[in-house]
Amino acid sequence: MNFLEKYKDEFEKYDRMDHDFIDDDKIWAQLNKWENPSKEDVRRVLKKAEQCVRLDPEETAILIQNKDEETIQEMYELAHRLKEEVYGDRIVFFAPLYISDECANDCVYCGFRCSNKAMHRKTLSMDEIEQEVRIMIEEGQKRTVLVYGESPSTQVDFMCDTVRKVYSVKSKHGEIRRANINCAPLTVEELKKLKEVGIGTFQVFQETYHHETYRKMHPAGTIKGHYRWRLYCMDRAQQAGVDDNGIGVLFGLYDWRFEVMGLLYHTIHLEETFNGVGPHTISFPRIKFATGTPFSEHPEYEVSDQDFKKLVAILRLSVPYTGLICTAREPDSVRREVIPFGVSQIDAGTRIGVGAYAQSKNANGLPDKEQFTIGDTNSLDSTVREICEMNCIPSFCTACYRAGRTGEQFMKVAKSRFVHNFCIPNAIFTLKEYLLDYASDETRKKGEEVLAKHIAQFKGEPVYDKIQENLKRIENGERDLRL
Ligand code: SAM
Ligand code: SF4
Repeated sequence: MNFLEKYKDEFEKYDRMDHDFIDDDKIWAQLNKWENPSKEDVRRVLKKAEQCVRLDPEETAILIQNKDEETIQEMYELAHRLKEEVYGDRIVFFAPLYISDECANDCVYCGFRCSNKAMHRKTLSMDEIEQEVRIMIEEGQKRTVLVYGESPSTQVDFMCDTVRKVYSVKSKHGEIRRANINCAPLTVEELKKLKEVGIGTFQVFQETYHHETYRKMHPAGTIKGHYRWRLYCMDRAQQAGVDDNGIGVLFGLYDWRFEVMGLLYHTIHLEETFNGVGPHTISFPRIKFATGTPFSEHPEYEVSDQDFKKLVAILRLSVPYTGLICTAREPDSVRREVIPFGVSQIDAGTRIGVGAYAQSKNANGLPDKEQFTIGDTNSLDSTVREICEMNCIPSFCTACYRAGRTGEQFMKVAKSRFVHNFCIPNAIFTLKEYLLDYASDETRKKGEEVLAKHIAQFKGEPVYDKIQENLKRIENGERDLRL
């Protein structure tokens, strides 16, 4: 069968629907209605947000349209407080592993699009994947996201093989304990296969929720040209039992205010359809320069740093129980700015070229094999240190997903504010492992200070002795201890 016609029957099903859950006119009407909210309007919404509940679209529109400095500061303060309450001060670390840059789609913003002749095309072999994973483990990584284009050489059975391969690699004390996936939308049957091999989060970004912009960015005749096939991808994931899902927007394609509303509507749709289970994470990449990709140089709706900061805080306030991922696309200065407003995950030590962990010590070293250029080229070690210097605790924890606390189970845990009690101890154990096995002297010193401060928080609580006991066991050489 022609690869591009692979999902033809499925497309027809979606084409027959008379509408989907993104109503462009309604979103603009809501944003326009609240063009100039008063301080009282904003404070009313913040009062509700204090309860740690998901906001309604009109409430989020009020925050989006707020231009008053005083109440914007109040938004930042509350976003910071909610982040601390729900997630504690831990930051979860991961790194991407690019498996293939072969792609049959032609997304105008992406270095991997099929019409880009400046790209060297390559899908890693199993041996090459092993080599990449070994280097990642030896740098201290425990969590990865596997990234693929959409092509005949990276179909679901191949993806399953790559996941199995990643989990099979052991090096000295380490292994990858959680492999997330970022790939094209799949069918329910395909997703069931991914579930069987034990993927972590399944991520697909809508890129833009605005129908007309989506059409312009993703040419007709390509698989990705089908807006609804992508929009309902997480519904299919839930139907397949893949209940740990990540959604996202590529900021710069359309007005950021509309896109934040789109993310909220997507969350509401999933929560309403699947018994309260919304997305596990939201990503908010901004477009970065990509080789051979003129569109990426001056995106029409480029988001300023100021608006970026605001949108992160608004997401935190609007969906308090959804993890927020700030990727290494952002320079470390921007990352430092937005972490306090709600970010719960970052990638570090990142290389995004296909084969780049083996071929290049530095990020951005292989422009004809990289989807775009990244802004944060620091090593994992220095980023761990930096996060410690911010008085946050780096975490490599993978406990929840391995204990089956995903989807509805995770939501129960998250919503009862239980995350803090499980996650901080597990962050302590995994940071301790990192400091013993991989850290430079300088990072170890800083990390030990952060550990001491976090352990002290538990004094007098029943879990304190367990934490001390596990730390002793880790010092004596045991690994992968968790609550
Ligand atoms: N090919 C799959 C897809 O499109 O769904 C997998 C994802 S792609 C390799 C990962 C993500 O990178 C895309 O969903 C998009 O949001 C983002 N991306 C693409 N081009 C980018 C650019 N120039 N700058 C920053 N992010 C970009
Ligand atoms: Fe292919 Fe994904 Fe890039 Fe689009 S964004 S060209 S689907 S790799």
